[in-house]
Amino acid sequence: MPETLPFTPNPFFRCAGPNCGVLKGVSDRWWVMWTSFDERKIPVVHLAPWDEELAVREGALHVCGEGCAQKLQSQFMGNVLENRGRRSGG
Ligand SMILES: [Zn+2]
Repeated sequence: MPETLPFTPNPFFRCAGPNCGVLKGVSDRWWVMWTSFDERKIPVVHLAPWDEELAVREGALHVCGEGCAQKLQSQFMGNVLENRGRRSGG
């Protein structure tokens, strides 16, 4: 069932980085990351400069900087390898 709540922009974004969780300020240069599957079901990680529209999308991760982006990318890569190993491993 889709959410039918009225659109309420949330001014508070928190960094999704492991052990980070800082709050975004107005002037901070942040990034948005999200993952998806392409048409061949291959997991893809996306990274884009901060954009309010991207930031409020479902599944969007808010990232305070390069360090946290790298940690999240590393987490993503670990998950992919883990899933792959599970799938092909007997
Ligand atoms: Zn962070």
